[in-house]
Amino acid sequence: MERVLEHYGLMDSFKRSGDSLSGPCPLHKGSNPTQFRVSLSSNIWNCFSECKHGGNALDFIATMEGVSIHAATLKAIEWFDLDREAMSADSEQNEATAKLPGSTQQFSRARYQMDALRERECKSYF
Ligand SMILES: [Zn+2]
Repeated sequence: MERVLEHYGLMDSFKRSGDSLSGPCPLHKGSNPTQFRVSLSSNIWNCFSECKHGGNALDFIATMEGVSIHAATLKAIEWFDLDREAMSADSEQNEATAKLPGSTQQFSRARYQMDALRERECKSYF
């Protein structure tokens, strides 16, 4: 989570106290310095003001960029040089799966599970 905040150059505007950071919410561009809290040990954030929302590092990127969690995962992999090999192995698998006969529904479920797995892998990097 700290690396994500650094990526956005937000660390300067946040105040650290122990395990947590607080500062103005970068998501709704608030000004109250206590409305946005980050827990560094649990890698989660929360906006107690307008957003009334919280999440993990990927949720944060998704909200900042206005993209899906999946797209946010790809960005995180690119920014932080996460495991690219795992990514390419995944896409080969995806192609192989696509060639197999089977319902689209089954395929998309498998695809979803793979995405979920990959996200979990990424989360452990933050
Ligand atoms: Zn907010």
